Amino acid sequence: MRDKLLALAALQKVDLDIAALQKNAEAYPREIAELEKQLAQARAAVDAERTRLEELDKQKVNLEHTITDDKDKVRKWEARLTEQRSTREYSALAREIDIAKKGQQTMAEEVVELGKQATLQREAVKQKDADFQVKAKDLVEKVDQLKGKLKDVQAQIAGIDGARTEAAKQVDSGLLKRYDTIRKKRLPALVAAVAPGTCTGCRMNIRPQLYNQLVASRGLDVCPSCSRMVYAAEALEAATPK
Ligand SMILES: [Zn+2]
Repeated sequence: MRDKLLALAALQKVDLDIAALQKNAEAYPREIAELEKQLAQARAAVDAERTRLEELDKQKVNLEHTITDDKDKVRKWEARLTEQRSTREYSALAREIDIAKKGQQTMAEEVVELGKQATLQREAVKQKDADFQVKAKDLVEKVDQLKGKLKDVQAQIAGIDGARTEAAKQVDSGLLKRYDTIRKKRLPALVAAVAPGTCTGCRMNIRPQLYNQLVASRGLDVCPSCSRMVYAAEALEAATPK
């Protein structure tokens, strides 16, 4: 019985290794996704600053076009000014021209202001882009590292399958069946009980009779509390050859 128990314990060791590897295999993609999200957010922040700059530049160009068009219009009005017969018509047009020119002056001041804002914004974009490049480099490196680790873990999982098959072959088929059924619900499925009768799987006490029986038989039973396969640690240790 003790050999059967040892074979089962050996199999469980492989299963615990596989479980640990799988935990990493599931954690790495989550970490990678989180870093990629941070990268996308940082990129979006720089893009938003760049869009703001483009808007300022566009506003400035539009305003400059408006001024040019307005100047053409005023030039035509000025040409018509000499053709005005009555004083009233003359002064009305002259006033329109005056108002238009004042408007142009205001727009020209806005162009200057937009130019200043654009210059500041261009500096901000440059700075933020430089910061982003540093951050992006760091994030990309971390993502690459995690991807490497994930690949390693996946290779290890693939490699360990063979070891699992080998270890399972050594286990008594009836025990294997019971073990596999429990393992799907809770791992470890095989746990030790320690004197005077505590299951190390669930920390609950087991009946003294059951414990004594496990020690005497060096066998297996089921923990009444957690339904795991349980053996007496001292029975296994006492019989371990030096
Ligand atoms: Zn238990």
